[in-house]
Amino acid sequence: MDERASAESGTCVDAAREPGAGVLLPRRSDLSGEVPTDTDVVIVGGGLAGCALAYFLATQGVELAVLERAELNREASGTNAGSFHFQIAIHQLTGAGADADRDRLLADVRLLVRAAAMWRDLERELRADLGVHVTGGLMVAETPEQLQILVTKQRIERDGGLDTEVLTGAELRNFAPYLAEDLAGASYCATEGYANPLLAAPAFAARAFEAGAAVRTYAPVERIEQLEDAGAARFAVHHARGKVRAHRVVNAAGAWAHELARGNGFELPLRAEGLHMNVTEPRDRLLVPLIQHIGRRLTLKQSSNGTFIVGGGWPARAEPWPARPSVRWSSVAGNAAVARRVVPALADVRVIHTWAGVWAASKDLLPVVGESARVPGYFTCVVPTGFTLGPLMASLLAGQMTGTSATLPSEYSPDRAPTLARGGARQGGPS
Ligand SMILES: Cc1cc2nc3c(=O)[nH]c(=O)nc-3n(C[C@H](O)[C@H](O)[C@H](O)COP(=O)(O)OP(=O)(O)OC[C@H]3O[C@@H](n4cnc5c(N)ncnc54)[C@H](O)[C@@H]3O)c2cc1C
Repeated sequence: MDERASAESGTCVDAAREPGAGVLLPRRSDLSGEVPTDTDVVIVGGGLAGCALAYFLATQGVELAVLERAELNREASGTNAGSFHFQIAIHQLTGAGADADRDRLLADVRLLVRAAAMWRDLERELRADLGVHVTGGLMVAETPEQLQILVTKQRIERDGGLDTEVLTGAELRNFAPYLAEDLAGASYCATEGYANPLLAAPAFAARAFEAGAAVRTYAPVERIEQLEDAGAARFAVHHARGKVRAHRVVNAAGAWAHELARGNGFELPLRAEGLHMNVTEPRDRLLVPLIQHIGRRLTLKQSSNGTFIVGGGWPARAEPWPARPSVRWSSVAGNAAVARRVVPALADVRVIHTWAGVWAASKDLLPVVGESARVPGYFTCVVPTGFTLGPLMASLLAGQMTGTSATLPSEYSPDRAPTLARGGARQGGPS
C-alpha cells in the first residue's frame, strides 16, 4: 500500500489508485481552511449525502462549499450498519400487502438496482478502499404468511430488474445451515452486502476537495438568509465563522434538516429517530451473507474480524445535539433475541458494544431530494436508507443541478405535504 501519512491528522491518504488498496481520508488542514465568502453552491452537512453531492458537483466543475458544524461523518453516516438493502424490506411495506404497494415498490426496486450498480463501481471511481463486501443477502421468513410476502416481493423484484430467489426446506438448509431449522424460508439477493460507513463519506469528501470543493468543518450554519435584489447571490449563509453568499443552497443536514428548513419558513416531511446497533465478541466464521427478516427488526452480518454486527431499526432515545443518542436496554435485548431466534448459534455469543445514531426518516419513506418551489435555489438532499441510496441520490441531484440528467420525480419533492404518511408505514429503519 502506497500511502502518505498526514502529519496533522495522522490519517492516511492513499495514492496507489487501486481499488481496495488504501484508505482515503481528508486532511485536517484541508478542512480547517478559510470559508469562502462567495460561491455558487453551499451544502449544509458533511455526512454521506453532503460529501457525495460535493463530489458529484465539484467533478462537474461547480464551485461549492460544504459547511459541517463539527467533524465530517460523525452522525448517521458514520454510526450506521453499512448494509446494502437492495431487497424490499420490512420498513418499505405498509401492512396492506406487497401487492397493494406494487407500483411504489417497483419504482423503489429500479432505484435500488441502480444503487447496487453504483456501489459495485464506487471503490474504482473514488480510487479508495470503502470496505465493500458483496456477500449476498438472505431475508428470512418465520411464518407461512411471511413466506408468502417473500414470494410476492420476489415477483416485484424480478419485474423491477433485481435478481432474487426464494429458498425453502432442504435447499435453504443446505445453503444456510446456520439458520434455525424451523424457518419457513428466505429470499436471497446476490448483490447485497455491506461497506464500511467510516470510510465512504470521508472518501467522497477527499475527492471533492481534490476537485476544488471547499469542505469545511466546525462551521455550523446558523441561518440561511434569502436575499432580494442581490445580483447572482440569492442567499447569505450565516455560519459560526462568518457569512458566505451563494446562488444555491443544499440542505443535507440529515436529522436536523427539518429544523434548518423551518428557518426559511417551510416544513420538510421528515422526523428524526434514534436507532441502535450492537456488536458481539468475535467467533470463527459462521456466516457470509447479510441476514434480514421480512417481519421483524433484524439485520445481521459477520464482519471480516469475526464479530457479528446486529441491528434492524430498534429504537434508541434521540437526545438534543451534541449529546449522543442513548441506547435503550429493551432494544438491545429485543434485537439480540431476534438474532438468536434466526441464528441459534448466537445463543452464547456476548454483545460487547452498543451504540446509537440519529437518522432522518421521511414520513412516506421516500427520499426528500430536489429543489423547493417555495424557495427557488433551495435544494434538499435527505435520503432514508441513506447509506444504500445516498450516493445514487446525490449523483441524481447533482445531475439535476447541472442540467446533465433528468429532473427528479415529483414524489421526492421537499414541498410534498409534511403530514403525508403511508397508511400503517412501519417505524424503524435500515441498519
Ligand atoms: C444506527 C443506524 C443504522 C443505520 N443503518 C443503515 C444501513 O445499514 N444501511 C442504510 O442504507 N442506511 C442505514 N442508516 C441510515 C443512514 O445512516 C442515513 O440515512 C444516512 O447516513 C444519512 O446521511 P446524511 O448525510 O443525510 O445524514 P448525516 O450523516 O446525519 O449527516 C448530516 C450532517 O449535517 C450536519 N449538520 C446538521 N445541522 C447542521 C448545521 N446547522 N450546520 C452544519 N452542519 C449541520 C451534522 O453534523 C451531520 O454531520 C442507519 C442509520 C442509523 C442511525
